[in-house]
Amino acid sequence: MQTVKVLCARCHVPLEGPAEPNPEDRMSCPRCGEGDRCEAVIGEVNEYIQVMASQKIAKMFNQPSALADGRTWRFIAHVEL
Ligand SMILES: [Zn+2]
Repeated sequence: MQTVKVLCARCHVPLEGPAEPNPEDRMSCPRCGEGDRCEAVIGEVNEYIQVMASQKIAKMFNQPSALADGRTWRFIAHVEL
């Protein structure tokens, strides 16, 4: 599996957590302190990637994305789509 760097959506800095995190370990933004359990963070980032991908496809076909626009993300990732 590809490693994706998780960023704080507000500060755009990488979240910090243990080197080998367990699902229950906490990851958080070193600047604003926004954070959650690893499991929750990864879940939200996966959702973010799916929404970004679907929006890109919708744009290619010049259609509005069915998935929610303008939702507020706590965590994001830089992804090549
Ligand atoms: Zn932050």
